[in-house]
Amino acid sequence: ETPQTAYKRVMLKISGEALMGDQGYGLHPPTVERIAREVKTVHDLGVEICMVIGGGNIFRGLSGSAQGMERTTADYMGMLATVMNALAVQSALEGLGVFTRVISAIRMDEIAEPYIRRRAVRHLEKKRVCIFAAGTGNPYFTTDTAATLRANEMNCEAILMGKNGVDGVYDKDPKEHSDAVRYDHVSYDDVLAKRLRVMDASAIALARDNNLPLIVFGLDEPGGFKGILSGQGTYTKVG
Ligand code: UDP
Repeated sequence: ETPQTAYKRVMLKISGEALMGDQGYGLHPPTVERIAREVKTVHDLGVEICMVIGGGNIFRGLSGSAQGMERTTADYMGMLATVMNALAVQSALEGLGVFTRVISAIRMDEIAEPYIRRRAVRHLEKKRVCIFAAGTGNPYFTTDTAATLRANEMNCEAILMGKNGVDGVYDKDPKEHSDAVRYDHVSYDDVLAKRLRVMDASAIALARDNNLPLIVFGLDEPGGFKGILSGQGTYTKVG
């Protein structure tokens, strides 16, 4: 059946930090479960869901703990961190009865499926949540680029960027400036020209060149993800 929502197939991108709760590091199981519940409510509407999860809660290629390491090595470690996060979210979703597949850009056949586009599309058609892990499989990229790439490949209608502590894109950092104003709508070119912190520039350009809208919303409010699918709540549309 066709879902009565604004979108039938979406990419949900969350950062690794969205999974760490109030801890400074790693995975916070109640937070992982809360995110999984958010995904389940949208899945229950019949929406086909792709996910990309960052790795910053565990390891980032450009972080302090990567000091002295070759950039590519550090980036591979970051990609491995995203696989751990993907497995944690998979486990939480399956605990709620949602069928999932973790699909890795780097082969690790005992842990995750390799990425084969047609196979991933089939999973979506069968209403399995596809969690794309290991980023793009390439160093010097980010999981924002991975989310944009896979969203294009999977013909997603939008990328939903779930953020912590902020409910959209502002003209300046709302945590530092009380007069910061949230955009309802902003163009890709303005995001690039004004260096608004949405995604890195290569991800924005990839979305722009394929006319893929980005919806930036807050993950903190329970029901926020479902609300966005029904056109409710506050958010910024980039596109
Ligand atoms: N990474 C990479 N290539 C990719 C995706 C990720 O090299 O295609 C590495 C990179 O080192 C990055 C880390 O994985 O710092 C974690 O990803 P990201 O910083 O995007 O995670 P987030 O900030 O969303 O938690």
